[in-house]
Amino acid sequence: MDHPRTDEIRRKLRQVAKKHEFADVVDLRDRLDWDSIFEAATRRNRMLAPQIGSLRERYERTHPALVRIAFETDEPIGHAAGQYLSIRYGKRTRAYSVASSPNRDDTELCIRRVPDGRLSTRLCEELSVGDQLTVRGPNGHLLLEDVSKRDMAFLATGTGVAPMKSMIDYIFEQGRDEYRGEKRDVWLFLGAAWKDDLPYHAAFSELAAKHENFHYVPCLSREPWLTEWNGETEYIQDALLKYVDERALEDAAFGRHMATMLANSPATTVDARIDPHELEVYACGINAMVYSLETAVQRLGVPEQQIHCEGYG
Ligand SMILES: Cc1cc2nc3c(=O)[nH]c(=O)nc-3n(C[C@H](O)[C@H](O)[C@H](O)COP(=O)(O)OP(=O)(O)OC[C@H]3O[C@@H](n4cnc5c(N)ncnc54)[C@H](O)[C@@H]3O)c2cc1C
Repeated sequence: MDHPRTDEIRRKLRQVAKKHEFADVVDLRDRLDWDSIFEAATRRNRMLAPQIGSLRERYERTHPALVRIAFETDEPIGHAAGQYLSIRYGKRTRAYSVASSPNRDDTELCIRRVPDGRLSTRLCEELSVGDQLTVRGPNGHLLLEDVSKRDMAFLATGTGVAPMKSMIDYIFEQGRDEYRGEKRDVWLFLGAAWKDDLPYHAAFSELAAKHENFHYVPCLSREPWLTEWNGETEYIQDALLKYVDERALEDAAFGRHMATMLANSPATTVDARIDPHELEVYACGINAMVYSLETAVQRLGVPEQQIHCEGYG
């Protein structure tokens, strides 16, 4: 799903180098000498270090780093939205969440290449049409609650969105975004470094255009270093705070960071707001991120029994 961005990065580098007067070390006709570029750039302006470091990392990244794999099985998988499968290919078995709705005939996974990862690199590089996978499952307890009047917020980074894609598709296919004739707000806060690292960005944007109660908030930490991205750039738990209805918070006391984020204006045009007491939260991604999300939404006042998390290790 991601694409090579080396030409874009070269163009950006040329602009930055001109502006900060280190164009002499950026020879765009040849292989980029990143060590010299980094040294020259940071000598001119130390604040350039994260931008140059990130551009380098992205420039050198192996492609593809994000793939979708769809397959058919002899027997129906029979998964519930949010569950995962054990996938065996060659000698390795790993867990992967099902990204497709239970209503679909085929099954889709969304896989990120973990650098030097033993299975994900092979799935990204070697797997081709007609190959066979061994599939076990479904497993997992990240499941949708029964339909109620509560709103829902899905929080994920990268491929942590896979189970949420399944859940969100299922919600709208089954009309679960409505309770007794009232629409429920469905939020998705999806974090990634670069825009093309957002799995299903086009599909979620289309869904948001179609359903006015679906609010898609992509949060991109590095994209502004390359393009004119003007959406959210914070961690997803911080971005969520900007959309909270402060009237719902009563007299609760928050630390300085949370209070600042709560007071910040959203970068998007979404005008709905979140009442933490009337919210179900579903979070998925690497363990450390999921843990901090859980803590943040608990502090905000989301009742513990309404928070559902899954960590990827
Ligand atoms: C319930 C569950 C669902 C999962 N669903 C998905 C999914 O939908 N898509 C997906 O891409 N992955 C998913 N994973 C992660 C997946 O199971 C593998 O861990 C991942 O693909 C790495 O496997 P590997 O063999 O390539 O790396 P390994 O050779 O096993 O590990 C290399 C190192 O990378 C670390 N690592 C593992 N995952 C990540 C990560 N995501 N980011 C950074 N470092 C990591 C490991 O801890 C290890 O230290 C899920 C994990 C669990 C437990």
